[in-house]
Amino acid sequence: MYIIGMMKAASFLILVMCTVSYSCKAGANAVEPAAAKSLRILDKLPDNENDWKKILTDQEYNILREKGTERPFTGQYNKEKRSGIYRCAGCGHILFTSDTKFDSGTGWPSFYRPAKNSSVRELQDNSYGMNRIEVVCARCSGHLGHVFDDGPAPTGLRYCINSVSLQLDTQKK
Ligand SMILES: [Zn+2]
Repeated sequence: MYIIGMMKAASFLILVMCTVSYSCKAGANAVEPAAAKSLRILDKLPDNENDWKKILTDQEYNILREKGTERPFTGQYNKEKRSGIYRCAGCGHILFTSDTKFDSGTGWPSFYRPAKNSSVRELQDNSYGMNRIEVVCARCSGHLGHVFDDGPAPTGLRYCINSVSLQLDTQKK
């Protein structure tokens, strides 16, 4: 009995040591995976607005679902220079790439084209007495911003996008 007890204790100890050394290893490389984990990439879209409310912050809900606009020069990606892909903050759909981002001076992140034709949809927007083209996520229809025809070469377009509608994925280039 004593020997069996010792063996049990020893295997328990080995298990604990393995667990501890594994977590130390994980801890040492934790910076990048933790950042990737914080991205919101949905496998399944919420069925209704109530479910959207549960997963989005108040500001995200206001901009993505109620077509709000963040105040200029306040968004976290306005001056962002890191390379990566910009995903929809609502669902994780790939929208823009950092190599098409430019400083428009408007106070909102600006891109001269979407990552793919299937990234965004463009809709006529006549609100506030203006004729504008609204840009929405092609997957979840979340409001992103507007597109204007005063952008730089090669497209001449300026996709003027709320930072709140975006999440930068620096893992993917
Ligand atoms: Zn989306």
